Formats: sequence, structure tokens, C-alpha cells
Amino acid sequence: MSETILILGAGGQIGGELTVKLRSIYGDANVIASDIRESNFHKQLEGPFEIVDATNKEAILEIVKKYNITQIYLLAAMLSATGEKYPQKAWDLNMTSLLAVLDLAKEKYIDKVYWPSSIAVFGTTTPKNNTPQKTIMEPSTVYGISKISGEFWCNYYHEKYGVDVRSLRYPGIISWKTKPGGGTTDYAVDIFFKAIEEGKYECFLNENTRLPMMYMEDAVDATIQIMQAASEDIKIRTSYNLSAIDFTPKELSDEIKKHIPQFTITYKPDSRQEIADSWPQTIDDSQARLDWKWAHKHDLSSMSKDIIKNLQAQKNQELKTV
Ligand code: NAD
Repeated sequence: MSETILILGAGGQIGGELTVKLRSIYGDANVIASDIRESNFHKQLEGPFEIVDATNKEAILEIVKKYNITQIYLLAAMLSATGEKYPQKAWDLNMTSLLAVLDLAKEKYIDKVYWPSSIAVFGTTTPKNNTPQKTIMEPSTVYGISKISGEFWCNYYHEKYGVDVRSLRYPGIISWKTKPGGGTTDYAVDIFFKAIEEGKYECFLNENTRLPMMYMEDAVDATIQIMQAASEDIKIRTSYNLSAIDFTPKELSDEIKKHIPQFTITYKPDSRQEIADSWPQTIDDSQARLDWKWAHKHDLSSMSKDIIKNLQAQKNQELKTV
């Protein structure tokens, strides 16, 4: 059966690149991008874009009916750092949108749901190295609380109503085409932009803060792979651990210096340091690798090389057109 896909929150860091990849697979007309606000990224693309509030179930249903949607990817959320500034709003957005979409699946308007969780479900009491799939989970941020609750809602809807919902616990996602939206791992994106533009960066985490990370291409591939997997291969209906690389700001800056030798970094930790300190350093994702054959492509070196090459090309193009 052919799929028609609705992405909620498509204007964000992951949604933009996911839209492009899904359209290359399913066709422009079959992937409907939507967000609460118009997205500059989507203005340059060919396929349909709709303004939809992901917390408004009726508004989502209208679009589901208009396009005969079969799958929803729910990416609208308030992330970790912003969530600490607006805890109630973070909870309302993250939970109301998820329950709206799960209900639409329960009521058989759609067949399949994708919803991402995060390494923020873990807390200071979780083993930090090679964090297992099943372990102590005592999150300290509102974002983390919303993600762990969301995971159990997903499992509940699957067990109780047979809803086909699939989920990944993303690590920090690193991209250059789209910018991040208020997370604790945003430094690992900002650093590349500043390295190209200014040759220096002031990092809001200290130099030895190791966190699990992943290049956007791998994150998008994992997302589509879990959605395309046979239902019987999805053994976990809370959310899968997912892993690729891990590094500290110091290690990342050393990698950047291989390409931009004059690059300098300084450290000025802010409130995001406390959030980062509560998260794992490395993740055990062997269950995803076993169940639906997950394998990442990019390491720190190939990712850095690719980002710097693309940002430099973008800068040269901008200079030419000025
Ligand atoms: P983002 O902040 O870049 O994008 C979120 C998008 O949701 C924005 O375009 C925003 O306009 C939109 N949005 C906000 N409120 C909305 C509403 N009411 N209705 C419709 N759209 C609304 O986030 P992202 O980085 O693309 O993250 C996508 C998902 O992946 C989120 O669930 C996030 O928790 C999860 N995640 C991301 C990362 C990461 O490193 N980016 C890591 C772990 C988990």
C-alpha cells in the first residue's frame, strides 16, 4: 500500500531534513510538511506545507482527511533548555500533541505513528557509560519527564489498543542545513557555524563534557528505517536506545582544528551544564542493532569533514552573490 505521510513540527532541526528524505522515497505530493509557523526551509521546497497546531487534534484530523494520511511523524516539541524556562508550556506541548496523535491512531484514522524520545529520559542515577536499554530512569528536566511519560503512553496505546507506534531515544543531533531549537547539545552545531564565520567559539559546556551524538543523516536514516521495519521486528514499544558517536567539546574542537588550524575555543558553562551532567556519556543500542538492523555510517571525523566542506561551500557561494 502506498503511504501518505504527515510531519508535525516539520519546520524544526530534524523535520526539515526528514521532509527532504521522505519525499525522495515517497514522492513530494505524498509527504505533507506542517508546523505552527511558516518555515523558511520549506519555502524553498516543492511539496505541500500546511500550518497545523500539533496540540489541536481536530486541526490534525482535518489535514489527515484532506490528504488521506496513513502515517504521522510527530516532531513538534519543546526541547530541554527551553523547557526549563517554560516548564508548564513544555509539558502541555509535548504531552497534548502526543496524546492527540495516539488517539487518532487508536480511532483508526492513521495506521502508524513515529514519535521521538531522547537521552533526556535518563538522569544522574542512571549508569553513565554504555547506558543499557532498560535501566534506572529518573530524569531531572521537565523535558525528560515529558519524554519518559510519553514513552509509557506509547507502550500503553500499543498494548491496550494495538496502536503501531515506534520511537527512538535520539542522542544530540548534529546538522548544518537546519539549525537546532533550544537543546543542551546545540553547541555541537553552533561550533561549526562559528568556526567558519569567526574562527572562534565560546562553548556553554565545559571541555570534558562527554555526550552521545549523531550526524543528521544517520538520525534521518534510523527514523525511516524503524518506520519501514516489519511490525514483528519492533520488540520495544516504549523507545529504542540509539547511538552513533560520543565526544567532548575539547575533542570536537581538536577535530575542527584539523581543518581550520587557527580555530580557538573558550569555555563558559551556563545552566545547560547541569542538564548535560545529568545525561549519559555513551549509550548501548545493541537492541536496535539486533531487532531492526540499525547501523550508523558517520564517525566524528567523517561528520566534521562533511559539515566543514558544506559550510565552506555555502560561505563561498554567499560571497560570490554579494
Ligand atoms: P525543533 O525545536 O528544532 O523543532 C520543533 C518544531 O516544532 C519547530 O519547528 C516548532 O515551530 C514546531 N512546533 C512548536 N510548537 C508546535 C505546535 N504546537 N504545533 C506544531 N508545531 C510546533 O526540534 P527538533 O530538534 O527538530 O526535534 C524534533 C523532535 O526530536 C522533538 O520531539 C525532540 O524532542 C526530539 N529530539 C531532538 C534532539 C535533537 O538533538 N535535535 C535530540 C533528542 C530528541
